[in-house]
Amino acid sequence: MYGQPLGIIWHERFREISFSHPMIRDISKKRISEFRERVSSLTNVMFITPRPAPIDALYEVHDKGLIERIMEASKLPYIGFLDSGDTVHYPGMFEDVLLVAGSALTAIEMSNYLKTIYVPLGGFHHATKYNSMGFCPINDVNLTINRLMNLKQKVAVLDVDAHHPNGVEEMFYEKPVLKISIFAYDGSFFPGTGDPRRRGDKEGKGLNYNVALPLGAADDSFEEALRMLRLLEEYDPSYLVVIAGVDGHKDDGLKSLNLTSNSYNLLGYKISKLFGRRETRIISFGGGGYGQGSALSMYSFVLGLQGFLKKEEVPTQDFEKRHEVKKLVDSFLEGFSSSL
Ligand SMILES: [Zn+2]
Repeated sequence: MYGQPLGIIWHERFREISFSHPMIRDISKKRISEFRERVSSLTNVMFITPRPAPIDALYEVHDKGLIERIMEASKLPYIGFLDSGDTVHYPGMFEDVLLVAGSALTAIEMSNYLKTIYVPLGGFHHATKYNSMGFCPINDVNLTINRLMNLKQKVAVLDVDAHHPNGVEEMFYEKPVLKISIFAYDGSFFPGTGDPRRRGDKEGKGLNYNVALPLGAADDSFEEALRMLRLLEEYDPSYLVVIAGVDGHKDDGLKSLNLTSNSYNLLGYKISKLFGRRETRIISFGGGGYGQGSALSMYSFVLGLQGFLKKEEVPTQDFEKRHEVKKLVDSFLEGFSSSL
């Protein structure tokens, strides 16, 4: 961003890590490898090797019982589920869990030197204090936000993914963190949470924004939703945590939204324009992505973060859905200043 290198947290082990359902584990791993090949050609990028987290770090945001369950499952000689049928455990997975958590901690540490950091394998936003769920054994986003708050930072979270970040909302619903989530919603689509009327409570009152997109929403709706970034500008956080999940791409295996990689490029670009000249530090995560368009979308996001606006695919549109999103965003923007 404006001359500074972009830090990318990278470990060769990332190519082999996926906690997703066995049906989509391979494609989920492939997108990480493909992303790595794509960014090889970029200049002004610094690759940073993460250190695994100490076990104690997990207890900052998880119940001891959950961590012990994962440790035990990791010793089993077969692949099974940590929940009712989404999130897998496999032999030796606990080491990967520590590497994922360590990647978030390394990102925080390196943010003292680099303004913008990207963690391609990260953004496990569904896990709660007590449970693994939605391909997320633990919640590295909560770990990041919690650490930053303990460091007395003013934190905002922008979560973009096909799925609502239930784990993040649950932990920080009553906490002074601005949370803007953009996701697919019809009341029952996984994980089922994300009611736009849930606006936060106690110290978090008025700080929770669920920008629910109708299923099948296209690039034009996404652009409308990005008007919410104005709130980030007003809030002026010292840290912006971004989950840039790319599973809303039109070719994703978990079909939900009708976005192209252009939308992810625009997301990165708008963030770079908004915060390029401010003090705000940015830690972003790769989130979900289970299709042919995943690696391109991640790459497009990174290009956007570097200040490049690029349309690689034919844009998608749906006027009616856009209108619906516009109404919701207008209602949020109207009430914001008064709720701060
Ligand atoms: Zn997702």
